[in-house]
Amino acid sequence: MEKAMTLEQQDKAYVLQTYARNYIHFVRGKGSVLYDEHGREYIDFASGIGVNSVGHGNDILTKAICEQAKNIIHISNLQVIAPQAKLAERIVELSGYDMGVFFANSGAEANEGAIKIARKYGEIKFHYKRYKVITLEHSFHGRTITTVKATGQAKFHTPHFSPYPDGFSYVKRIEDLYQAIDDETVAVLIELVQGEGGVQPFEKKEIRALASFLASQDILLIVDEVQTGIYRTGEFLASNLYGIEPDIITLAKGLGGGVPIGAVMTRHKEVLGVGDHGSTFGGNYLSMAAGLAVLEVLEGLYDEGKIREKVFYFSTKIKEIAQRYKRLFEKEVGIGLMRGLRAKSTDIQGEIIKRSMDEGLVVLKAGRNTVRFLPSITISKDEIDEGFKRFEKVLDTL
Ligand SMILES: *Cc1c(COP(=O)(O)O)cnc(C)c1O
Repeated sequence: MEKAMTLEQQDKAYVLQTYARNYIHFVRGKGSVLYDEHGREYIDFASGIGVNSVGHGNDILTKAICEQAKNIIHISNLQVIAPQAKLAERIVELSGYDMGVFFANSGAEANEGAIKIARKYGEIKFHYKRYKVITLEHSFHGRTITTVKATGQAKFHTPHFSPYPDGFSYVKRIEDLYQAIDDETVAVLIELVQGEGGVQPFEKKEIRALASFLASQDILLIVDEVQTGIYRTGEFLASNLYGIEPDIITLAKGLGGGVPIGAVMTRHKEVLGVGDHGSTFGGNYLSMAAGLAVLEVLEGLYDEGKIREKVFYFSTKIKEIAQRYKRLFEKEVGIGLMRGLRAKSTDIQGEIIKRSMDEGLVVLKAGRNTVRFLPSITISKDEIDEGFKRFEKVLDTL
């Protein structure tokens, strides 16, 4: 009899190999601690790329999912879905913006929805159609053909997948946007803190100036909050932190606490009508129950001032490390619980990430040689301490 395949062999034999995967096998998690198949524990400073916003095994979230699954998991959008209406209301209320919400299943899909809203706006509001969308270099907006084209990183625009849709262009800096706009421009799409591109925040002043300029020109401001949303920056939305009121906002990662979800919200509620957009899974009972539970947990923490405390504690630690290990890092970047350390080289970045895993700490990489930290919003002081203890141990070996 042939020997059974290992998990790694099975993965390599049957799963399309689109990821440079690590074969550590996590089987369980509690809070910001993960356990692998050998029972070894890891501190989780990645939270599934900013997804597990309430940590692993959160009682309120898991209970909500289980209860909902027992009653009804899915019914189509042809019927009204009570938790969908409720979650849309919660998101709108927490944001403070007078918007309507459409639910999708991922960040890329949310951005697709945003681009569709913008394109139709450009069609119905102007005599000559406006359809062009300008984005920024180092941005990341998703992996569908359109959102990959919206992503301002040439390496993603491989000819393998061409032709790409027309109407996307990129600028280096916010200040270059003013020149790039023409009379066919319908929208500017930006992240307020570029996540994948290196945890790079923009200045509040330049963002506010841009927002008022775009409003004066009737050009839509789309803010991709797939990574920055749901208290990641310390406020419910990064748009709240920056004090702007975008035309369209997209959400995904942290909203479902790990259950696939995406959302696009807009002030221009009248643009999309019946039949313009849809999704089979989007807004179903299970993901909506998860979203409601996540917001219940995080809203409570926010109101008690706990998120602010965690942000302060985490940033103090990371600033200390940036100071102490100047030989390895250029600088510290990011805001809230979305932080990074810019390594002096790609090699240093790679070694730190690899050795951290060996030491029992999960951290992420991001563009511009950044070691990225996206802990769950519920991470405890002890978990932060233990994580940085391990991190320093790694840095001392380099
Ligand atoms: C992760 C991410 C996306 C893509 O989300 P998916 O759920 O992977 O489609 C889009 N925009 C930003 C800013 C992201 O961080």
